[in-house]
Amino acid sequence: MDRGVEQRLQCLVPRALLDPERTDLPCGDAQGLVPVELRWRGDQLSAIEPCGGSGLPLALTPLVDPHVHLDKAFSWPEFPNYSGRMQAALDLNLQEGQGRTAEQVLQRGERALDRAWRYGLRGLRSHIDSGGPCAEPSWQALLELQQRWSGRIELQLVALAPLFLWRSSEGLALARRVAAAGGLLGGVLGPPFPSSGRDGADLDALLRLAGELGCGIDLHIDESSEAPAAGVQLLVQRLERFHPGVPVTCSHASSMGLLRAAQARPLAQRLQRLGVAVVALPTTNFWLLGREQSVSSGFRPLAPLRLLQQEGVAVALGADNVQDPWYPGGDFDPLDLLRLSFRATHTPPWERQGLMPFTTTPARLLGLAWDGVLRVGGPADLLLTSAGSWAEFLAHSPQRRVLRQGRWLPLPDRAHPDVRLANVV
Ligand SMILES: [Zn+2]
Repeated sequence: MDRGVEQRLQCLVPRALLDPERTDLPCGDAQGLVPVELRWRGDQLSAIEPCGGSGLPLALTPLVDPHVHLDKAFSWPEFPNYSGRMQAALDLNLQEGQGRTAEQVLQRGERALDRAWRYGLRGLRSHIDSGGPCAEPSWQALLELQQRWSGRIELQLVALAPLFLWRSSEGLALARRVAAAGGLLGGVLGPPFPSSGRDGADLDALLRLAGELGCGIDLHIDESSEAPAAGVQLLVQRLERFHPGVPVTCSHASSMGLLRAAQARPLAQRLQRLGVAVVALPTTNFWLLGREQSVSSGFRPLAPLRLLQQEGVAVALGADNVQDPWYPGGDFDPLDLLRLSFRATHTPPWERQGLMPFTTTPARLLGLAWDGVLRVGGPADLLLTSAGSWAEFLAHSPQRRVLRQGRWLPLPDRAHPDVRLANVV
């Protein structure tokens, strides 16, 4: 088959994103970067060769976001939450859900996926509010978007429902629909934890159902500054009694960051033994959590990423909420998340473990065919930045070009500030 003219590009690529079997390629400099010439024909890489040259642009491969909420994205203008408090966010979310239509979710999701794609995301896992009147229109719209975007963005869907729903006939019907769409079962696990201890029984039902249907599980868990890691502890206890044999993800696990290392480490070891992954969500956690403290002191719980990685737990990072009552900012831009996370979580970009939470680990959590590592014969997909080093990448938001299937995508359609500043003299 004629794959067309060979194209080429010289750039700096993190060694972590280059074929580990290519022992002829150098190890990378102090920043973990290797200057290479990439060549491709059609949608496949045809060569990766070391090269000299200075002033080369830093390139990644398109990234994967393991945790977003497409159904409510961009709802902030109608449902703003100026208090920044979680309870207000939840109340506004429920209010918005009462009147949500499939047409609205289609528009929100289309806008979100178009931006994500142009910004350089290739996979997204989205939670969907699934416990009230908004469930049906939201699922209808997102299943349609999943088809519409197939081949450009892999969209995986999670049913975000009250845990008790998974014990009802309504929950069973929803779970069957989710399973048919290759989706996951989800929910919220405290605090508060009901004094009846009902959460444990609800969790058992969820684990059984997920096992029967072969659905993965992704729970919002311990998104709080209270009762440190109580939800993770409960989940681990239940999984140690019965593991459904499907992938399990803890999203947030924020209050685990409040445990002392002597308490957190054994819990991390149990998570590792059970194969449970953790998805940390710094943007929303930093916006919402810790506001109860009377003096602002940066008291903002976040999953202890480095400790979890040291114990071998799969850790990924996601954007979570975008322009909704939970967080007014964000734009589905993975480079924004990288720049925040490198600062906020001390994930060092020059180390393999600093990049894995955005690249290979979320690709694995979503079960994507490509891990995001460049290999000859693999996808000709790149996220090319204008930065020449990690320091430049951190200094200011870089420009970018995205290569998908061997073709450069159009630039993101940003609302450039110069439109609003055009009349300023
Ligand atoms: Zn979330």
